[in-house]
Amino acid sequence: MLSHDQSTTIAANQQCDTYAWFSQRAWVEVDLEALSHNVRQLRKFLSPHTQLMAVVKADAYGHGSVTVAQTALQSGASWLGVATVPEGIQLREAGIKAPILILGATYTSEQIHAIAHWKLQPTLCSPKQALIFSTTLEAIKYNTPIAVHVKLDTGMSRLGTDWQQATEFVQLVERLPHLKIASIYSHLATADSPDPTVMQQQHQRFKSAIARIKEMGIEPPCLHLANSAGTLADKALHYDMVRPGLAIYGLSPAPHLQNVIDLKPVLQVRARVTQVKTIAEATGVSYGHHFITPGEMRIAVVGIGYADGVPRNLSNKIQVLIRGKRVRQIGTITMDQMMLDVSIIPDLQEGEVVTLLGQEGSEKITVDDWAGELNTISWEILCGFKHRLPRLGVI
Ligand SMILES: *Cc1c(COP(=O)(O)O)cnc(C)c1O
Repeated sequence: MLSHDQSTTIAANQQCDTYAWFSQRAWVEVDLEALSHNVRQLRKFLSPHTQLMAVVKADAYGHGSVTVAQTALQSGASWLGVATVPEGIQLREAGIKAPILILGATYTSEQIHAIAHWKLQPTLCSPKQALIFSTTLEAIKYNTPIAVHVKLDTGMSRLGTDWQQATEFVQLVERLPHLKIASIYSHLATADSPDPTVMQQQHQRFKSAIARIKEMGIEPPCLHLANSAGTLADKALHYDMVRPGLAIYGLSPAPHLQNVIDLKPVLQVRARVTQVKTIAEATGVSYGHHFITPGEMRIAVVGIGYADGVPRNLSNKIQVLIRGKRVRQIGTITMDQMMLDVSIIPDLQEGEVVTLLGQEGSEKITVDDWAGELNTISWEILCGFKHRLPRLGVI
Protein backbone atom coordinates (compact mmCIF):
# COMPACT_ATOMS: atom_id res chain seq x y z
CA MET A 1 0.00 0.00 0.00
CA LEU A 2 1.32 3.40 -0.94
CA SER A 3 1.71 6.10 1.64
CA HIS A 4 -0.47 9.20 1.39
CA ASP A 5 2.40 11.27 -0.05
CA GLN A 6 3.47 8.72 -2.62
CA SER A 7 -0.04 8.08 -3.87
CA THR A 8 -0.86 11.73 -4.52
CA THR A 9 2.45 12.27 -6.26
CA ILE A 10 1.80 9.37 -8.57
CA ALA A 11 -1.66 10.68 -9.35
CA ALA A 12 -0.29 14.12 -10.21
CA ASN A 13 2.31 12.60 -12.51
CA GLN A 14 -0.21 10.43 -14.28
CA GLN A 15 -2.14 13.53 -15.12
CA CYS A 16 0.65 14.63 -17.42
CA ASP A 17 0.79 11.25 -19.15
CA THR A 18 -2.71 10.54 -20.33
CA TYR A 19 -5.10 12.66 -22.29
CA ALA A 20 -7.92 12.12 -19.82
CA TRP A 21 -5.86 13.51 -17.00
CA PHE A 22 -4.29 16.22 -19.07
CA SER A 23 -7.67 17.49 -20.20
CA GLN A 24 -8.48 18.56 -16.67
CA ARG A 25 -7.68 22.19 -15.90
CA ALA A 26 -8.37 21.60 -12.23
CA TRP A 27 -9.57 18.72 -10.10
CA VAL A 28 -10.19 17.39 -6.60
CA GLU A 29 -8.26 14.33 -5.47
CA VAL A 30 -10.07 12.16 -2.95
CA ASP A 31 -7.60 10.03 -1.04
CA LEU A 32 -9.62 6.92 -0.25
CA GLU A 33 -6.75 5.35 1.66
CA ALA A 34 -6.75 8.36 4.01
CA LEU A 35 -10.54 8.10 4.34
CA SER A 36 -10.31 4.43 5.20
CA HIS A 37 -7.53 5.19 7.70
CA ASN A 38 -9.69 7.82 9.43
CA VAL A 39 -12.68 5.51 9.71
CA ARG A 40 -10.47 2.71 11.08
CA GLN A 41 -8.93 5.12 13.62
CA LEU A 42 -12.38 6.19 14.76
CA ARG A 43 -13.52 2.57 14.90
CA LYS A 44 -10.54 1.71 17.13
CA PHE A 45 -11.39 4.62 19.42
CA LEU A 46 -14.96 3.32 19.98
CA SER A 47 -15.98 0.42 22.14
CA PRO A 48 -17.02 -2.64 20.08
CA HIS A 49 -20.77 -2.20 20.78
CA THR A 50 -20.82 1.44 19.59
CA GLN A 51 -21.80 1.72 15.93
CA LEU A 52 -20.25 4.25 13.59
CA MET A 53 -22.49 6.31 11.30
CA ALA A 54 -20.52 8.01 8.53
CA VAL A 55 -22.17 11.36 7.85
CA VAL A 56 -22.09 11.83 4.07
CA LYS A 57 -24.51 14.74 3.62
CA ALA A 58 -23.78 17.52 1.09
CA ASP A 59 -22.17 15.00 -1.26
CA ALA A 60 -19.92 13.81 1.56
CA TYR A 61 -18.76 17.36 2.39
CA GLY A 62 -17.67 17.81 -1.23
CA HIS A 63 -15.81 14.47 -1.45
CA GLY A 64 -18.44 12.49 -3.42
CA SER A 65 -21.02 10.59 -1.39
CA VAL A 66 -21.19 7.21 -3.16
CA THR A 67 -17.45 6.51 -3.14
CA VAL A 68 -17.07 7.86 0.38
CA ALA A 69 -20.03 5.81 1.64
CA GLN A 70 -18.69 2.61 0.06
CA THR A 71 -15.20 3.16 1.46
CA ALA A 72 -16.50 4.07 4.92
CA LEU A 73 -18.70 0.96 5.05
CA GLN A 74 -15.75 -1.23 4.06
CA SER A 75 -13.61 0.37 6.76
CA GLY A 76 -15.86 -0.07 9.80
CA ALA A 77 -18.87 2.24 9.49
CA SER A 78 -22.24 0.48 9.61
CA TRP A 79 -24.66 3.40 9.15
CA LEU A 80 -24.84 6.39 6.81
CA GLY A 81 -26.25 9.83 7.58
CA VAL A 82 -27.56 12.23 4.94
CA ALA A 83 -29.45 15.52 5.13
CA THR A 84 -32.11 15.03 2.45
CA VAL A 85 -34.20 12.38 0.69
CA PRO A 86 -32.43 12.81 -2.70
CA GLU A 87 -29.08 12.30 -0.98
CA GLY A 88 -30.38 9.02 0.41
CA ILE A 89 -31.84 7.89 -2.93
CA GLN A 90 -28.51 8.55 -4.63
CA LEU A 91 -26.85 6.05 -2.27
CA ARG A 92 -29.60 3.44 -2.77
CA GLU A 93 -29.42 3.83 -6.56
CA ALA A 94 -25.71 3.08 -6.31
CA GLY A 95 -26.65 -0.23 -4.66
CA ILE A 96 -25.77 0.66 -1.08
CA LYS A 97 -27.77 -1.49 1.34
CA ALA A 98 -26.63 -0.08 4.72
CA PRO A 99 -29.18 1.72 6.92
CA ILE A 100 -29.46 5.41 5.98
CA LEU A 101 -30.71 8.04 8.43
CA ILE A 102 -32.06 11.30 7.03
CA LEU A 103 -30.89 13.92 9.51
CA GLY A 104 -33.08 16.69 8.11
CA ALA A 105 -36.84 17.11 8.48
CA THR A 106 -39.24 15.57 5.94
CA TYR A 107 -42.95 16.34 5.69
CA THR A 108 -44.42 16.04 2.19
CA SER A 109 -46.20 12.96 0.94
CA GLU A 110 -43.68 12.72 -1.94
CA GLN A 111 -40.86 12.58 0.60
CA ILE A 112 -42.69 10.00 2.71
CA HIS A 113 -43.44 7.81 -0.32
CA ALA A 114 -39.79 7.96 -1.35
CA ILE A 115 -38.63 7.14 2.19
CA ALA A 116 -40.87 4.05 2.28
CA HIS A 117 -39.94 3.00 -1.26
CA TRP A 118 -36.18 3.36 -0.84
CA LYS A 119 -36.13 2.12 2.76
CA LEU A 120 -34.60 5.30 4.11
CA GLN A 121 -35.04 6.15 7.79
CA PRO A 122 -36.51 9.55 8.69
CA THR A 123 -35.93 11.80 11.66
CA LEU A 124 -39.13 12.69 13.51
CA CYS A 125 -38.89 16.11 15.13
CA SER A 126 -42.42 16.87 16.30
CA PRO A 127 -45.78 15.25 17.12
CA LYS A 128 -47.26 16.95 14.04
CA GLN A 129 -44.67 15.40 11.75
CA ALA A 130 -45.20 11.97 13.36
CA LEU A 131 -48.94 12.22 12.67
CA ILE A 132 -48.33 13.21 9.05
CA PHE A 133 -46.08 10.19 8.58
CA SER A 134 -48.53 7.79 10.14
CA THR A 135 -51.57 9.02 8.19
CA THR A 136 -49.66 9.19 4.89
CA LEU A 137 -48.44 5.61 5.32
CA GLU A 138 -52.00 4.56 6.27
CA ALA A 139 -53.34 6.17 3.07
CA ILE A 140 -50.94 4.25 0.85
CA LYS A 141 -51.64 1.07 2.86
CA TYR A 142 -47.98 0.60 3.61
CA ASN A 143 -48.02 -2.49 5.78
CA THR A 144 -44.57 -2.92 7.26
CA PRO A 145 -43.88 -0.25 9.88
CA ILE A 146 -41.04 2.09 8.90
CA ALA A 147 -38.06 2.68 11.19
CA VAL A 148 -38.08 6.24 12.56
CA HIS A 149 -35.61 8.19 14.68
CA VAL A 150 -36.94 10.46 17.41
CA LYS A 151 -35.07 13.76 17.66
CA LEU A 152 -34.87 15.65 20.94
CA ASP A 153 -33.77 19.26 21.26
CA THR A 154 -31.48 19.39 24.29
CA GLY A 155 -30.03 22.84 23.61
CA MET A 156 -29.13 23.19 19.92
CA SER A 157 -32.49 24.92 19.25
CA ARG A 158 -32.58 23.40 15.80
CA LEU A 159 -34.64 20.29 14.94
CA GLY A 160 -36.35 18.22 17.60
CA THR A 161 -38.95 18.21 20.34
CA ASP A 162 -37.94 19.92 23.56
CA TRP A 163 -36.31 17.38 25.88
CA GLN A 164 -38.84 18.17 28.61
CA GLN A 165 -41.64 16.87 26.36
CA ALA A 166 -39.67 13.76 25.39
CA THR A 167 -41.89 11.20 27.15
CA GLU A 168 -45.16 12.49 25.62
CA PHE A 169 -43.55 12.61 22.18
CA VAL A 170 -42.06 9.13 22.39
CA GLN A 171 -45.34 7.70 23.71
CA LEU A 172 -47.21 9.24 20.78
CA VAL A 173 -44.80 7.79 18.22
CA GLU A 174 -45.01 4.41 19.96
CA ARG A 175 -48.78 4.41 19.68
CA LEU A 176 -49.03 5.56 16.06
CA PRO A 177 -49.50 2.81 13.47
CA HIS A 178 -46.90 2.28 10.74
CA LEU A 179 -44.00 3.68 12.79
CA LYS A 180 -41.34 1.80 14.74
CA ILE A 181 -38.81 3.71 16.87
CA ALA A 182 -35.29 2.75 15.77
CA SER A 183 -33.43 5.31 17.85
CA ILE A 184 -33.69 8.40 20.02
CA TYR A 185 -31.11 11.09 19.46
CA SER A 186 -30.02 14.67 19.96
CA HIS A 187 -27.35 17.01 18.58
CA LEU A 188 -24.65 19.00 20.39
CA ALA A 189 -24.23 22.74 19.87
CA THR A 190 -20.80 23.39 21.40
CA ALA A 191 -18.90 20.11 21.37
CA ASP A 192 -15.96 21.82 19.62
CA SER A 193 -15.50 24.31 22.48
CA PRO A 194 -12.70 23.75 25.01
CA ASP A 195 -15.25 24.72 27.67
CA PRO A 196 -17.47 21.64 28.18
CA THR A 197 -20.17 23.36 30.28
CA VAL A 198 -22.93 23.58 27.65
CA MET A 199 -22.09 20.17 26.21
CA GLN A 200 -22.40 18.62 29.66
CA GLN A 201 -25.69 20.40 30.24
CA GLN A 202 -27.01 18.96 26.96
CA HIS A 203 -25.77 15.54 27.99
CA GLN A 204 -27.55 15.80 31.37
CA ARG A 205 -30.78 16.78 29.64
CA PHE A 206 -30.46 13.85 27.22
CA LYS A 207 -29.82 11.48 30.13
CA SER A 208 -32.75 12.71 32.15
CA ALA A 209 -35.11 12.51 29.14
CA ILE A 210 -34.00 8.94 28.46
CA ALA A 211 -34.39 8.00 32.13
CA ARG A 212 -38.00 9.24 32.10
CA ILE A 213 -38.72 7.37 28.84
CA LYS A 214 -37.41 4.17 30.43
CA GLU A 215 -39.57 4.76 33.50
CA MET A 216 -42.59 4.67 31.16
CA GLY A 217 -41.54 1.13 30.26
CA ILE A 218 -40.15 2.06 26.85
CA GLU A 219 -36.70 0.69 26.06
CA PRO A 220 -35.09 2.76 23.26
CA PRO A 221 -33.26 0.36 20.92
CA CYS A 222 -30.47 2.85 20.15
CA LEU A 223 -29.28 6.18 21.57
CA HIS A 224 -26.88 8.64 19.91
CA LEU A 225 -25.62 12.13 20.55
CA ALA A 226 -22.09 12.77 19.29
CA ASN A 227 -20.85 14.48 16.12
CA SER A 228 -17.07 14.46 15.41
CA ALA A 229 -16.27 16.89 18.21
CA GLY A 230 -18.44 15.07 20.74
CA THR A 231 -16.93 11.73 19.71
CA LEU A 232 -13.38 12.97 20.25
CA ALA A 233 -14.12 15.09 23.33
CA ASP A 234 -15.78 12.60 25.67
CA LYS A 235 -16.32 8.83 25.46
CA ALA A 236 -19.34 9.19 27.79
CA LEU A 237 -21.16 10.69 24.79
CA HIS A 238 -20.70 7.67 22.54
CA TYR A 239 -23.77 5.65 23.62
CA ASP A 240 -24.84 3.11 20.97
CA MET A 241 -23.68 5.08 17.95
CA VAL A 242 -21.64 8.15 16.98
CA ARG A 243 -22.21 10.38 13.94
CA PRO A 244 -18.90 11.84 12.77
CA GLY A 245 -18.68 13.84 9.55
CA LEU A 246 -15.65 16.10 9.57
CA ALA A 247 -13.35 13.60 11.29
CA ILE A 248 -13.84 10.96 8.60
CA TYR A 249 -12.63 13.56 6.09
CA GLY A 250 -9.47 13.85 8.15
CA LEU A 251 -9.93 17.24 9.75
CA SER A 252 -10.03 18.05 13.42
CA PRO A 253 -13.17 19.84 14.62
CA ALA A 254 -11.12 22.00 17.00
CA PRO A 255 -7.44 22.64 17.79
CA HIS A 256 -7.69 21.14 21.29
CA LEU A 257 -9.03 17.87 19.77
CA GLN A 258 -6.22 17.64 17.19
CA ASN A 259 -4.26 14.84 18.81
CA VAL A 260 -6.99 12.59 20.17
CA ILE A 261 -6.68 10.26 17.17
CA ASP A 262 -4.50 10.36 14.05
CA LEU A 263 -6.44 11.81 11.11
CA LYS A 264 -5.29 12.32 7.52
CA PRO A 265 -6.89 14.90 5.23
CA VAL A 266 -8.79 13.25 2.37
CA LEU A 267 -9.31 16.13 -0.04
CA GLN A 268 -6.63 17.74 -2.18
CA VAL A 269 -7.20 20.37 -4.82
CA ARG A 270 -4.94 20.82 -7.82
CA ALA A 271 -4.99 22.86 -11.02
CA ARG A 272 -2.77 23.53 -14.00
CA VAL A 273 -0.73 26.51 -15.07
CA THR A 274 -2.35 27.77 -18.27
CA GLN A 275 -0.04 30.68 -19.13
CA VAL A 276 3.26 32.06 -17.89
CA LYS A 277 4.52 35.55 -18.69
CA THR A 278 6.60 38.47 -17.46
CA ILE A 279 4.90 41.76 -16.73
CA ALA A 280 6.51 45.16 -16.08
CA GLU A 281 6.87 47.07 -12.82
CA ALA A 282 3.79 48.99 -11.64
CA THR A 283 1.38 46.78 -13.61
CA GLY A 284 -2.08 46.08 -12.16
CA VAL A 285 -3.13 42.41 -11.93
CA SER A 286 -6.75 41.11 -12.26
CA TYR A 287 -10.11 42.81 -11.67
CA GLY A 288 -9.89 46.05 -9.76
CA HIS A 289 -6.08 46.05 -9.96
CA HIS A 290 -5.91 45.15 -6.27
CA PHE A 291 -2.35 43.98 -6.83
CA ILE A 292 0.29 46.21 -8.46
CA THR A 293 3.68 44.72 -9.31
CA PRO A 294 6.46 46.24 -7.18
CA GLY A 295 8.94 45.41 -9.95
CA GLU A 296 9.12 43.32 -13.09
CA MET A 297 7.43 40.02 -12.26
CA ARG A 298 7.07 36.50 -13.66
CA ILE A 299 3.43 35.53 -13.25
CA ALA A 300 1.41 32.39 -13.93
CA VAL A 301 -2.26 32.08 -14.73
CA VAL A 302 -3.96 29.01 -13.17
CA GLY A 303 -7.22 27.47 -14.33
CA ILE A 304 -9.19 27.51 -11.08
CA GLY A 305 -11.37 30.19 -9.52
CA TYR A 306 -14.22 30.93 -7.15
CA ALA A 307 -16.78 28.98 -9.21
CA ASP A 308 -14.65 25.91 -8.52
CA GLY A 309 -14.65 26.40 -4.75
CA VAL A 310 -11.72 28.73 -4.02
CA PRO A 311 -13.36 31.56 -2.05
CA ARG A 312 -12.85 34.96 -3.67
CA ASN A 313 -12.14 36.48 -0.26
CA LEU A 314 -8.83 34.59 -0.27
CA SER A 315 -7.57 36.94 -3.01
CA ASN A 316 -4.04 38.15 -2.27
CA LYS A 317 -3.96 36.08 0.94
CA ILE A 318 -3.00 32.51 0.08
CA GLN A 319 0.02 30.60 -1.07
CA VAL A 320 -0.03 27.54 -3.33
CA LEU A 321 2.57 24.84 -4.02
CA ILE A 322 4.47 24.34 -7.28
CA ARG A 323 7.37 21.88 -7.50
CA GLY A 324 7.18 21.64 -3.70
CA LYS A 325 7.72 25.39 -3.28
CA ARG A 326 5.36 27.95 -1.82
CA VAL A 327 4.34 30.76 -4.19
CA ARG A 328 1.85 33.51 -3.48
CA GLN A 329 -1.44 34.17 -5.17
CA ILE A 330 -1.79 37.76 -6.45
CA GLY A 331 -4.72 39.90 -7.54
CA THR A 332 -8.43 39.17 -7.31
CA ILE A 333 -9.42 35.52 -7.71
CA THR A 334 -11.79 35.40 -10.71
CA MET A 335 -14.58 32.97 -11.53
CA ASP A 336 -12.43 30.40 -13.35
CA GLN A 337 -8.84 31.60 -13.00
CA MET A 338 -6.31 33.21 -10.72
CA MET A 339 -2.77 34.56 -10.93
CA LEU A 340 0.41 33.70 -9.04
CA ASP A 341 3.75 35.39 -8.51
CA VAL A 342 6.13 32.71 -9.81
CA SER A 343 9.32 34.79 -9.83
CA ILE A 344 11.08 32.06 -7.81
CA ILE A 345 10.45 29.48 -10.57
CA PRO A 346 11.61 31.29 -13.72
CA ASP A 347 11.48 28.19 -15.94
CA LEU A 348 7.90 27.24 -14.98
CA GLN A 349 5.99 25.75 -17.91
CA GLU A 350 2.34 25.77 -18.97
CA GLY A 351 0.63 22.50 -17.96
CA GLU A 352 2.53 22.13 -14.69
CA VAL A 353 0.50 21.20 -11.63
CA VAL A 354 -0.32 23.62 -8.83
CA THR A 355 -1.47 22.32 -5.43
CA LEU A 356 -3.99 24.62 -3.80
CA LEU A 357 -4.86 22.27 -0.95
CA GLY A 358 -2.69 19.30 -0.11
CA GLN A 359 0.88 18.25 0.25
CA GLU A 360 3.97 18.42 -1.97
CA GLY A 361 7.09 17.07 -0.33
CA SER A 362 7.45 18.64 3.10
CA GLU A 363 5.14 21.56 2.36
CA LYS A 364 1.39 21.46 2.84
CA ILE A 365 -1.56 23.81 2.63
CA THR A 366 -4.56 22.84 4.72
CA VAL A 367 -8.27 23.54 4.72
CA ASP A 368 -7.75 24.98 8.20
CA ASP A 369 -5.25 27.50 6.74
CA TRP A 370 -7.97 28.80 4.43
CA ALA A 371 -10.68 28.69 7.08
CA GLY A 372 -8.43 30.66 9.46
CA GLU A 373 -7.73 33.27 6.78
CA LEU A 374 -11.46 33.69 6.14
CA ASN A 375 -12.58 33.49 9.75
CA THR A 376 -14.87 30.60 8.89
CA ILE A 377 -14.89 26.86 9.58
CA SER A 378 -13.31 24.03 7.61
CA TRP A 379 -16.76 22.45 6.98
CA GLU A 380 -17.73 25.43 4.79
CA ILE A 381 -14.51 25.31 2.74
CA LEU A 382 -14.98 21.59 2.01
CA CYS A 383 -18.59 22.04 0.92
CA GLY A 384 -17.43 24.67 -1.59
CA PHE A 385 -15.86 21.88 -3.65
CA LYS A 386 -19.05 19.93 -4.28
CA HIS A 387 -20.22 21.70 -7.42
CA ARG A 388 -17.86 21.94 -10.32
CA LEU A 389 -14.52 20.17 -10.22
CA PRO A 390 -14.15 16.57 -11.38
CA ARG A 391 -13.11 14.19 -8.61
CA LEU A 392 -10.35 11.71 -8.96
CA GLY A 393 -10.17 8.85 -6.51
CA VAL A 394 -6.63 8.24 -5.33
CA ILE A 395 -5.73 4.98 -3.63
C1 LIG B 1 -23.76 17.19 10.15
C2 LIG B 1 -24.20 16.41 11.33
C3 LIG B 1 -23.30 15.56 11.99
C4 LIG B 1 -21.82 15.49 11.65
O1 LIG B 1 -21.19 16.65 12.14
P1 LIG B 1 -19.57 16.83 12.15
O2 LIG B 1 -19.37 18.03 12.98
O3 LIG B 1 -19.17 17.07 10.73
O4 LIG B 1 -19.00 15.61 12.71
C5 LIG B 1 -23.81 14.77 13.01
N1 LIG B 1 -25.11 14.84 13.39
C6 LIG B 1 -25.98 15.68 12.80
C7 LIG B 1 -27.39 15.72 13.28
C8 LIG B 1 -25.56 16.51 11.76
O5 LIG B 1 -26.43 17.36 11.21
